[in-house]
Amino acid sequence: MSNVYKSITELVGRTPLLELSGFEKHHDLKATVIGKLEYFNPNQSVKDRIALSMIEEAEKSGKLKPGDTVVETTSGNTGIGLAAIAAAKGYPFRVYIQDQVSKERFQVIQAFGGKTIKLGDEPVIAKVLEETGGDFVAAIKALKEQVLDKEENVVFLDQCSNPANPAVHKRTTGPEIWEDTDGEVDILVACVGTGGTISGTGAYLKEKNPNVKVVGVQPGPNSLPDKDKNQPEEEITGVHPFEGVAENLIPSTLDRKIYDEYIEVEALEAFEAAREVAANDGILIGTSSGAALYAAKKLAQRPENAGKKIVAIFPDTGLRYLSTNLFATEN
Ligand code: PMP
Repeated sequence: MSNVYKSITELVGRTPLLELSGFEKHHDLKATVIGKLEYFNPNQSVKDRIALSMIEEAEKSGKLKPGDTVVETTSGNTGIGLAAIAAAKGYPFRVYIQDQVSKERFQVIQAFGGKTIKLGDEPVIAKVLEETGGDFVAAIKALKEQVLDKEENVVFLDQCSNPANPAVHKRTTGPEIWEDTDGEVDILVACVGTGGTISGTGAYLKEKNPNVKVVGVQPGPNSLPDKDKNQPEEEITGVHPFEGVAENLIPSTLDRKIYDEYIEVEALEAFEAAREVAANDGILIGTSSGAALYAAKKLAQRPENAGKKIVAIFPDTGLRYLSTNLFATEN
């Protein structure tokens, strides 16, 4: 039975590249636009890669032992990936999750046996968010120091500072793109959340060819929470500003020297690109994938990029957004 896998851990990575021929034709693009379909991972997102690498690094270093509880804070995909891998490896899992994240994400984590705690329901986090006017960095720091560090047998993976996050992209995502394009990739486009994807993948591709251009994507001003801390009507899930923001909001997993340029995309533009690629190529992608695709389209329309090969990372599936307005219909 040489083709039967023994664990979902063996199914992580080796995702396909797809040229978006219908989308290219629709916009009459003169460059090649390719999506890296991370929803081919066993739990449908790019975060399966870091879930596996952070758990395995913690095992290797002796920090994570049988019976320990794995803990993380996340907007969703990392929680899903970790919940599944923790289930497959037999670790209890607990996640602190933003209150407004779509319902299906909570359901999936709970199906894997994970415990979900809304940030607002954890008293230490709620207090710090209230006192600081919504400073997540301060809230997570307080959670670590005042709650997690005092518990026994708990391992907090912390994707925003864990070197296993960018490292797995350097070891897997980058080489996959290089090999599958026969080294012909010219531009990499990736959204930035923790920055792990762009930093690791970008580092590998630039090592192979220093002329590869790396472009980061961040949400535009209309797609960010306003000053009163109200959520925008539409948002690009999992993606955060990394230019023009306070230094303490930049995760250490983002290498700020890795990108040559950044492009701002509004949520509604991301939705538009996701709908167009669904209608023209038959693939259903999430909001951050739509943002990466919209940025790739902008790059493809520049005269100097005619004939170039642009690879955009598509972090997850549109199926994870059916309760949002991404693919909302009239009836
Ligand atoms: N898209 C989605 C849907 C995500 O969940 C994330 C991670 N929060 C990203 C993009 C950004 O990936 P990274 O953390 O590697 O920068």
